[in-house]
Amino acid sequence: MLLKITDLAVEVNGREILSDIDLNIGKGETHVLLGPNGSGKSTLFNAILGFPNYKITRGSIVFKGEDITNYNTTDRVRAGIGVSYQNPPAIRGVKLKSILQMESMGGLPENEELSPELQKLAEKLKMSDSYLERDVNLGFSGGEVKRSEILQLLAQNPDFVMFDEPDSGVDIENVELIAEEINVLLDKNKKPGMREKSGLLITHLGYILNFVGADTAHVLMDGRIACSGNPAEILDDIRKEGFKGCVECCRVH
Ligand code: ADP
Ligand code: MG
Repeated sequence: MLLKITDLAVEVNGREILSDIDLNIGKGETHVLLGPNGSGKSTLFNAILGFPNYKITRGSIVFKGEDITNYNTTDRVRAGIGVSYQNPPAIRGVKLKSILQMESMGGLPENEELSPELQKLAEKLKMSDSYLERDVNLGFSGGEVKRSEILQLLAQNPDFVMFDEPDSGVDIENVELIAEEINVLLDKNKKPGMREKSGLLITHLGYILNFVGADTAHVLMDGRIACSGNPAEILDDIRKEGFKGCVECCRVH
């Protein structure tokens, strides 16, 4: 198991948002997290990343066999966890180029020039030249923000990647471009048994799943995982019956 979450409960500002969360993600697996707005999907991401506001009141998070429940965010990222935010902040005064260099080397850049590898990645995501000299995400369009997030992940190259609604607010060309690189990040170009990278993907409507394959889906309702199973079947159920109907069906079976 790469990530093992057991009986997790999370409180934000004194209110319990998540409880009884059990989630096991193996090496090379991609899991999908579905659920209505406000069900706690982003809260789970933030708790896995260890943001101080997201207080773990019960349970544990074990990553690569190490209990990281009390680790700070920096140490979790160093251990190999990466994230693409739904609405990442702009960072005034930090060039995209500099953050890419820091992410790929884990420290301050020694020279001005991007390595040929980073340059190539930036070109692939249509983020080269003037974008690289701009402040991170400042004045970027919706699609550009998502591409910048994915580019930063490619530079960081984490073992476990979380994507928060990479398909929301993005047009079809950008979804296809982003999906292609998500597949790279998750080793989808390798055979299932040979994959090293794992991921957890939040998608509201499942659109991205037309382009990125997933092994297991989980439905979050009111801060609990109410159903887990085959992604295609669960999505089909949600489309026909809505989230409530899908969860009801899980309860019966
Ligand atoms: P989702 O991503 O599934 O739409 P969220 O995890 O964003 O849901 O939110 C779940 C619940 O937690 C919501 O009721 C939201 O208002 C609350 N919540 C999340 N983050 C915070 C926060 N920083 N402060 C207060 N409430 C929060
Ligand atoms: Mg969210």
